[in-house]
Formats: sequence, structure tokens, C-alpha cells
Amino acid sequence: MSAVAPGGAIGILGGGQLGRMLAIAAAQLGLDAHIYTDEPDSPAARVSAKTVVADYHDHAALAAFAHGVDAVTTEFENVPADTAQALIDAGAIVRPNARALAIAQDRLLEKDFFNAQGIATAPYAAVDAEGDLAKALETAGAPAILKTRTLGYDGKGQARIASAADARAAYAALGRAPCILEGMCGFAMEFSIVAARGEDGAFAAYAPTANTHRDGILWRSIAPAPIAQALCAQATDATRALMAALDYVGVLAIEFFLMPDGALLANEMAPRVHNSGHWTIEGARTSQFEQHIRAVSGWPLGPPESLGAAEMLNLIGDDVSQWRDHVGSPGAHVHFYGKREARAGRKMGHVTWVGG
Ligand code: AMP
Repeated sequence: MSAVAPGGAIGILGGGQLGRMLAIAAAQLGLDAHIYTDEPDSPAARVSAKTVVADYHDHAALAAFAHGVDAVTTEFENVPADTAQALIDAGAIVRPNARALAIAQDRLLEKDFFNAQGIATAPYAAVDAEGDLAKALETAGAPAILKTRTLGYDGKGQARIASAADARAAYAALGRAPCILEGMCGFAMEFSIVAARGEDGAFAAYAPTANTHRDGILWRSIAPAPIAQALCAQATDATRALMAALDYVGVLAIEFFLMPDGALLANEMAPRVHNSGHWTIEGARTSQFEQHIRAVSGWPLGPPESLGAAEMLNLIGDDVSQWRDHVGSPGAHVHFYGKREARAGRKMGHVTWVGG
């Protein structure tokens, strides 16, 4: 496609904080963000040129949305297949492509894809019925973690299994949905690679980011992650190869486990900007949000180099009540997402510090 010129419009599926930060980046580049969401009063809507509030299966609304924009992207991976298809049928350029979205939203397809790409994962097996549990436990080993294949995020749709006796209860707790059972990894560190691929195949990766979770939700990120150069190269090269294999356009993140023996295992990928890349807004020469909009618009990628060591802290639920301390702290870059209510586990904002 020809590059979207300033004055054009980028459609974003989803109205959360990622859509909000994408819309802000788009505005800086002279592009209008059009949000498509099923939620009224979303964080992204309040900073965007236009918002459509409609169901993700409303094909007429999707077609009208597609006609008003130059390209469509998403801020969440669980875009229903018929939503992507309706946009494509209406002539929209959808980035990342439908195949990347389909793989990333199904943990089984995702793990199979990692392995097909030569990227190791924890041992895993599909669980389609209760009768599969015993054999899956043999493959994955105990302790293990049962995850729904689709619609899980931030630790939701997961149950830990200490022994074979737990497995049936865990499966019932997950509603007997199609699952995968994964061996529990005693990792030394979790880190992610956030990278972009342009329409021309150009690749740009950010510094690796070490991540700490609280109750299954990302809490703190540090970049660069304290890992050896060779390991960083291994993870970055794997990300580059995976994105090329998907003919991917846009930003993508891969979450890795670093094992105590130095082995690298891929956990999951996110076909979008990622919470562990928020530090790039102030900490890199081009933020992940600008980078994604550049890629989706068919523009050259910007330089991803870091401007200093960075730390990012998520403000989750009631953490945001400390906002006065953060806004009063010199050197703290504060971001609030404009959510009306601070529910437990809800990402309300983040704070970034960038060193010299
Ligand atoms: P996920 O939704 O797969 O990213 O899982 C959320 C978090 O649960 C991860 O960031 C890890 O901290 C933890 N986790 C997920 N899978 C495993 C595993 N196989 N072994 C150990 N911890 C895991």
C-alpha cells in the first residue's frame, strides 16, 4: 500500500489504554485515530478524533468504519476472526494480519508456532476433554499450569496444579474450555522483547525488558534487562525470524522465561504494543506507540535505541490513589489512563523513570 500521509486516519480496534497511547502517538504524527470499541466512554475515545461504539460482530458498522480509515490496527489480540474478515472484506488494510492475530489468540497454536520456529517453550499438551488430563500431565509434568487456549490475560483463565489430584477440579474451574497444560517453569527471570517490523521488512527491537508480576499482572519493568549480550541476541534474533515468518507489520512483544541453566523459553506473544514497552515513551528514541503507527502507516521505522536505563511501574487498582506523590516527584513521568473507577487489578496508569 502507499504510505498514509499526515491528515489520514488510522482505525484502532479497542478503546483501552493501549488504544489511548496509540491515538496520542498518531495525533503527534498528524494522523487521526478512529476507535472502534464495544464500550462507551473508553480511555481511547477521549483522546481520539472519532469513536464508533458497536459490537465486534456488527459487520455493517465494521464496513462503515473501514471506509473511513486508511489502515486498521488493534490494541488487543482477541479480535474475533469474523471481525478481521469483515474489515478485510470491506477493503481495509489490517495490520498485523489475520494469521498473526489467529495464532496469538490461541495458546496451543502459539506454542506450536514457537516450536515450529525453533523457539523452545515449556513442555505442554492440549486438553480438549477431562480424559486428556492424565496424559497431558505425563507430558507437562507436575507442578503444572492449566490455561484456557483463548481469552486468557493477566493471569485470568489459568489454574495451577500441584498434583494429578488437582487437575480435574482445575479443569472444571476453567469451565471445561479447551485448554493447554504447561509444565511450571522455575524461571530465574521473565523478560520480553518488544520489536517492530515495517512494511518493507525493516526490523527494530528495543532493549530487552525484565518484568516482575504481581498476582499475574505486570507490575514493574526494567530496561535493559540484566542479561548477557548473547542471550539478548538469541531472543532478538528469534523475534526477528518469527515476525518475518508471519509477514508481520507493526509492533509485537514476546515474553520469555530465562531458566536457571541459561535456557530460553518463549511463554507467549502479543501482536500489539505491550505493557512492558511503556518505558519507551520517554526511554527510547522512538516510542513503541509511534513505532506501531509508523509501521501500520507504511512509514519507515524510527530508531529504537534507549536514552538511558529505564524503570516502569504500573499503577494497578488502588495504587493510583498515590497519584499526588508521583506527580510531585521530579523525574517521574506520569501517565494516567482516565479510567473512571479504580477496580482491583485494573491498570489505571504507569510511571516511568529514565536514568542518564
Ligand atoms: P501468561 O498469561 O501466560 O503470560 O501468564 C501470566 C504469568 O504467569 C507469567 O508472566 C508468569 O509469571 C506466570 N506463568 C505463566 N506460565 C507459566 C509457566 N509455565 N511456569 C511458570 N510461571 C508461569
